[in-house]
Amino acid sequence: MELLKCPNCKSDMREVKEPDITFYRCKECGGVFLDKGELNILATGMAGNIELCSIDDESHKDKFGIRYCPKCTGQKMKKVNLLVYSEIVFDFCPKCEGFYLDKGEINKMNIELEELNKDKHPQEYRGYIDNHLVRLDKIKDVAIGGMGAITYPQNIFFLRLSVYFEKPFNIGLRVHSEKRMDKISKLIGLFKQQDIQTEDKALDSAFIIQGKDEQKVKVLLSSEELKKELLTFVSNKPKMLTAEGKLEITDKRIVLTEGPYDGPGSYDAEKDPSGVVKRALKLALLFEESGENI
Ligand SMILES: [Zn+2]
Ligand SMILES: [Zn+2]
Repeated sequence: MELLKCPNCKSDMREVKEPDITFYRCKECGGVFLDKGELNILATGMAGNIELCSIDDESHKDKFGIRYCPKCTGQKMKKVNLLVYSEIVFDFCPKCEGFYLDKGEINKMNIELEELNKDKHPQEYRGYIDNHLVRLDKIKDVAIGGMGAITYPQNIFFLRLSVYFEKPFNIGLRVHSEKRMDKISKLIGLFKQQDIQTEDKALDSAFIIQGKDEQKVKVLLSSEELKKELLTFVSNKPKMLTAEGKLEITDKRIVLTEGPYDGPGSYDAEKDPSGVVKRALKLALLFEESGENI
């Protein structure tokens, strides 16, 4: 395991594995180092490239001095402001494009983003429910107009609910119900795995099932209770709001994407008024139970 020294206090940084990312946190001062792309993952509810929108050629300052990248020996980090103009200053490594954030800056960032995005609703969520990481993202297209400016060209969005498994299956699993999308994915070569037939006719006709390890996928999907719940899930079409949802299960998570919506829309993942989060959690538990046999 890579051992990193905190750019702030030189203490050891510990690897933190969350279901959606792995990063490093300092045991002493609580600062975190994020690899390229991970700041975007932690910015809840924003589909835009927060990282790219925060990097400019200007010089910025904070109360801390110059810091050096914990990954790239001797590399000075550059001070950058979140979205260029906010009060929040991160350290950015121009070489590996990682970010160092002082303790509490992830929360500050998310509060700031909420402020910025006026039609952002409190439902955009990342937290643990029943020991499972649950994320709700509002997926929008973000255009970069000029340095760091974020504009929303249209009001159309999708809601994407993710319930992460406690541990990934690592069998290249992909179970999904959208046949048309699959053709496109195959065309562009994203998913080269063969479709797997489970010999359960109802399941095979409702879903496209793929995986690197065919035998393990079959064992995983052999649980009667799991099959029943999967089929109920697609026939009942549980919704956060009103639009059709697309269900997808991968090694890491259960994903429900619904939309497109235009105008305002909100779903409270914690209160879960339509019960969709609860249903997805139930499905996750059944997958995990069945996964114990593989
Ligand atoms: Zn530290
Ligand atoms: Zn670096």
